[in-house]
Amino acid sequence: MKLLLSCMDCFKEQGYPSNSFVAVDFIEQGAYSLTCSKGHEIITLLQQMKFEVLYEIGAHAILDGYYREAISSFAASLERFYEFSIKVILKKSCNDQVIEQAWKKIASQYERQMGAFVFLWVNQFQDLPTVLSDKMVQLRNSVIHKGVIPTREESVRYGDEVLRIINALKKELKDQYSTELENVVFQHLLRSHQRVNSNSSPSTMCISTIVSLTNGEVDHDQKTLEEHLKSLSQQREKYKSIL
Ligand SMILES: [Zn+2]
Repeated sequence: MKLLLSCMDCFKEQGYPSNSFVAVDFIEQGAYSLTCSKGHEIITLLQQMKFEVLYEIGAHAILDGYYREAISSFAASLERFYEFSIKVILKKSCNDQVIEQAWKKIASQYERQMGAFVFLWVNQFQDLPTVLSDKMVQLRNSVIHKGVIPTREESVRYGDEVLRIINALKKELKDQYSTELENVVFQHLLRSHQRVNSNSSPSTMCISTIVSLTNGEVDHDQKTLEEHLKSLSQQREKYKSIL
């Protein structure tokens, strides 16, 4: 899976977006430095949060026939979405330093993160959050801990359940914590920028993902993973010469 970047300096010079893309690997830092074909040195910050990128990696893994890796990426996406939700909710009443210190206490233990998420959610919404069914938890554990090789159908079913959960919880967060949510995304961009050693001013880029926080399409959250796989496949075909 590659990220397609175009040069904003070329855009400014030409007055319209460049048709020339550079395909790069996704990286942990979220900030991409590269030189375009005209020699502009550009820095692009990817606005997408970690859970969005991980979900896309899972979808591409299905297209490539790596079903174990798909389940592992979808599971990681859901875990990072819980982290994102915890930070958004806490932002309403806590300062960033306290949130970071608290997170460090549970950063390496998923079970603790899950516990924190469930009770924080119940406290805020007076209702249980939607979580993975026992069947999907078993599937995830057998794939990750026992080396089970799932079928394509199982990986799509797992991905669909994660998608449904993220979209449902995301809607509630957007309805009640829109300012805090925007602040967490902004902080993510700021942190990505701080990781780059450069004085150039960066441009920000948004990619369309199926768990996107920013997608404006009316029926976007109703899409199934199979529908998304179909559009990803068409996109890969369109850009196959540079991917
Ligand atoms: Zn350029």
